[in-house]
Formats: sequence, C-alpha cells, structure tokens
Amino acid sequence: MHSAEAEEIRSLIGLRPEEAFENCKTLLSIQPHPDDTDIAAGGTVARLSSRGCRIIYVTVTDGGAGTTDPSMSWDRLSDIRKREQQAAAQTLGVSELIWLDYRDSELRPTLELRNRLITLVRHYKPDVILTVDPWLPYEAHPDHVATGLVASEAFFFSNLTNINREDLEKGLEPHSPRYIAYYWTKNPNLYIDISDLIDVKKKAMAAHQSQFTQEVIELLVKYSQLLGKRAGYRYAEAFKILNQTALHINSFADTL
Ligand SMILES: [Zn+2]
Repeated sequence: MHSAEAEEIRSLIGLRPEEAFENCKTLLSIQPHPDDTDIAAGGTVARLSSRGCRIIYVTVTDGGAGTTDPSMSWDRLSDIRKREQQAAAQTLGVSELIWLDYRDSELRPTLELRNRLITLVRHYKPDVILTVDPWLPYEAHPDHVATGLVASEAFFFSNLTNINREDLEKGLEPHSPRYIAYYWTKNPNLYIDISDLIDVKKKAMAAHQSQFTQEVIELLVKYSQLLGKRAGYRYAEAFKILNQTALHINSFADTL
C-alpha cells in the first residue's frame, strides 16, 4: 500500500500509524464546531472510551452560524448546539467538554488561540490530539482550516519551554503528545473498523438535531461505508496519523 520510500521514512522517524490509538490513555479532540468529532470519528471515540481512554472535546467556535432559519438567533442556536453536543458526548463516553466560544464562521489562526490550545495540551497531557486535516483540498470552511492549523501548531510546540512560558510559571509542564490524528483527510494512513459501532455513531450524530436531517445522516453513514470498502470493513473511519518529526520540512509527509 505504501511505497518503499515511504516505509523507509516512516521507520527513520518512528511513525507507526497503526499504534496511534493503541494504549491511548488520554485523547484531546480539538474540533471547529459542536458535531465535527462525532460525525468524523464518533465510532473511534466510542471504541476508545469503552477501553478506558479519557476523552476530552475542545470545541473552538460557538456554533451560532449553523442555521438557515431566520427566526433562530445566534445565542439560542449556540445554546441548543451545546446541549446536543452534551447528549452526543454521553452516547460516546466523552468525559469532558471545553468551550472556547470563538465566533462561528469567523475563525482565523491566531497566537491567542494557539496559546490557549498549548495550555490545554500541557494541562491534559494527551497521548493523541484528534483534529480536522487543515490541508484537505477544496475545504471551504475557514473554521475547519484554522482549527486544524492551530491544533497542529499546538501539537508541534507544546514541548518547547520558551513558547507560552507563562504555563511553566503556573506549574504546567511541557508535553509532547505522541501523535496527531487528522480526520476528513485526503491521505489517510489508518482505517479504524467501526462496523460494530455504526449504530452508536448514528445515535451520536442524531443528537445534533439542529444540524442534520435524516438524509444528511445517511450521507455521512455512506461516507463511513465507502471508507470501509477501501480497507475491507463494512464501516470505517479514516485518519492521517503523523508525529512531530513528520510535520516540518518533510516533503514526504503526504505519502507517509
Ligand atoms: Zn464543522
């Protein structure tokens, strides 16, 4: 499946995608909106939580833009979506929800957001950061691109002591998660079989009532089916797993 060249680079930089979620004790999911993790990785989240992995969702924006109903106010929708995320989180075994409340649809990559994420990484010390792939071709949503980029920077810099040094003065320690796992990616290197969890995932998706009609849920299930087909499973979720070394001056990264 991978070229000999990619295998060689993987071995040199210690990248083993298949081990990313194995023995994961803490997973920090950094998502643009309340629903992204559930629809992209809900089956994987359910699997990990059932194995005792602590799962924390950091939702970057407030979700207030996701409506076509003129009678729905920004604040009311934001409140509804938080309750929907809480219900879905309960279904999947997510233990903590953190809300950063940036304005939905207007997110830009900023140092302020990067530092807030670095502080969270140092506080929770995740083994894996889960987020959206900011390099998905044709992704038009700025919140997705910005969240993926800044989450990557937080992953990349959380072990450097002179970055956001205030954390250390407050008693937090530098931390290096082993892997970053991107969902909605053009170049997956890990497929997780979620065939036995598709009903749980559907239930979590259905909790986001303000966002998804039955047709949209069926489309999302179809995506899981098509990804599964590639890997010989009925339903799968797909991830691009990278480590720190892969994320800088690495012109092979898309092939790894
Ligand atoms: Zn989203």
